[in-house]
Amino acid sequence: MKVHHLNCGLLHAPPNPAAACHCLLLDCDDRLILVDTGIGLQDIARPLERIGQPAIDAAGFLFREPLTAVRQIERLGYRVEDVSDIVLTHGDPDHAGGLADFPAAAVHVSAEEYTRLTGGHKRYSPAQFAHLPRWVVHPASSQRWFGLESRPLGVVANLLLIPLFGHTLGHCGVAIQEGRRWLLHVGDAYYLRVELSTDDHPVSALATSRADDDSLRRASLSRIRRVFRDHDEEVELFGYHDFTEFPGAVVPEA
Ligand SMILES: [Zn+2]
Repeated sequence: MKVHHLNCGLLHAPPNPAAACHCLLLDCDDRLILVDTGIGLQDIARPLERIGQPAIDAAGFLFREPLTAVRQIERLGYRVEDVSDIVLTHGDPDHAGGLADFPAAAVHVSAEEYTRLTGGHKRYSPAQFAHLPRWVVHPASSQRWFGLESRPLGVVANLLLIPLFGHTLGHCGVAIQEGRRWLLHVGDAYYLRVELSTDDHPVSALATSRADDDSLRRASLSRIRRVFRDHDEEVELFGYHDFTEFPGAVVPEA
């Protein structure tokens, strides 16, 4: 499997630092899998209808077509139709916006997130799901990965949803085995890498205010910190919004 790290969007709401949309494209020989989707073409074409001015202002959405997953996949020389599966950490507008650009893909999500997404919770944008994605819903599992619950997606070997609830009630990380190591994309379980070591950081209040259940969020963060502390050799962690976590510390095109 080849793993491409793609920045599929840009958010900037000062005084918060500018934020990336760190998606993954997994090239698994016979299929392509996208992890989160960033800001999509339809968001750029119809931002008010798809996201709405209050959310655009609050999160600082910026709209850049070359950053969309679909355009980056084309630039890498892949066929967009070959994206067979999408794994969503959760359904917030900056993660789900590109879904509609891949209408044929199966969309994997936790059962808890699916219930919230389709239940009209106000944090989600129904317009981003109006094309009726082909949902594949993953319920609770008794399997474990480094002590955390894991839900194998059944798409390729060693691709797992890792429940990290709290930011939303069904928010999950995604674990992928790459060679001898594992990658753990923690989604929005933290915003900035500094959160691995301290609660005293510039986005602490933001993380709390955006959490559907802040005590669950803190419990998930402690689990991640434990993996970071105890399994640093085996697991590489990164989140969705911190620019410094792209491989090689190359800041992607903004
Ligand atoms: Zn986010």
